[in-house]
Amino acid sequence: MAAKGLIMQRRRGSGLPRVLITGGAGFLGRHLCKRYLDEGWEVLCLDNFYTGSYNNIYDFQNNANFHVIRHDVIEPIDIEVELILNFACPASPIHYQCDPVKTMKTSVIGTLNLLNLAKDKKARFLQASTSEVYGDPDIHPQKESYWGNVNPIGIRSCYDEGKRAAEALCFDFVRQYQLDVKVVRIFNTYGPFMAADDGRVISNFITQALCSNNLTIYGDGMQTRSFCFASDLIDVIHKFSLFEKESVGPINIGNDTEYTMLDVANKILEKINSESKIEFKTLPTDDPKKRKPDLTLARDILDWRPKISLDEGLNYTIDYFRKCYKS
Ligand code: NAD
Ligand code: UDP
Repeated sequence: MAAKGLIMQRRRGSGLPRVLITGGAGFLGRHLCKRYLDEGWEVLCLDNFYTGSYNNIYDFQNNANFHVIRHDVIEPIDIEVELILNFACPASPIHYQCDPVKTMKTSVIGTLNLLNLAKDKKARFLQASTSEVYGDPDIHPQKESYWGNVNPIGIRSCYDEGKRAAEALCFDFVRQYQLDVKVVRIFNTYGPFMAADDGRVISNFITQALCSNNLTIYGDGMQTRSFCFASDLIDVIHKFSLFEKESVGPINIGNDTEYTMLDVANKILEKINSESKIEFKTLPTDDPKKRKPDLTLARDILDWRPKISLDEGLNYTIDYFRKCYKS
């Protein structure tokens, strides 16, 4: 069993170490549930099923170490745990902008509730933050020391500022209560188990190409993103969650190979051999023009580098969506 060290020793009684994964029925949450089950943890998957689904966690239903808790993180919860991975929050712009007040409450009140739980139970806490804390960056690539360029009142603010406030809370709990907190700033991550209607660029382009619909490029397609495949992300989250040194500050996690959205659309059209055309649509307000992580800290502190190229990751993701459409 790989789950060793302080967290194991903290477990009361003779049971397995117990992790609470909020947002566990979502895209990344699903991969986390699987990984921690595989590593011998008891997994409590907490979700309000706003963007998550039972289909994502169907495979674990007969696993005695897996439990689903239907709950909204904006309400407090009292439960025995050793580790909390806080991934509850819609991540796709169309979903987080649908009910922006709720998105802000999820990030701020939800994170506060879970930090208080970690404090009460003396649990370790890992927060899923985001590259959105850098906003539309004027420093490139983005280092953790960069404070960002975020519009505080725009349509993305409910997410960006909510996640920034959540980070502030995390480090206040470190300073005020010496809580063991880790914060990861996740850059665009994709892969199997994204919802077909998620709305983010990779799942949109793949589902559009598979259905012979036009690929919708927002703006001129010259904006950039750097895409991380899910398995790379899950490896480093797992590693960081067991890292014994407390409070090392936020760490960027992602892939540092940068692509324009036009490059991504053309790659997907070629791989699927689709007859779909490209259709240019209006660029949403405040859409960041470029984004690429500086991964020096992740390499130096966690000895981690992403392994999966965009080409390889797209092949896996396309296979996944093909199977979804066949079944
Ligand atoms: P997702 O939308 O697939 O998953 C989010 C999950 O959280 C869903 O299951 C949803 O139902 C649940 N949820 C939302 N609000 C909730 C609430 N109030 N109470 C309980 N559950 C709630 O998105 P994802 O890509 O899996 O993202 C997961 C986390 O990772 C989010 O916190 C997101 O901000 C962060 N993140 C993701 C990426 C990425 O590229 N995938 C990038 C940066 C940060
Ligand atoms: N995008 C696009 N077409 C789509 C969906 C998104 O061109 O169908 C663009 C979007 O405007 C942004 C980039 O792709 O510039 C990444 O968008 P996504 O929603 O995946 O993530 P985020 O904007 O949060 O980085």
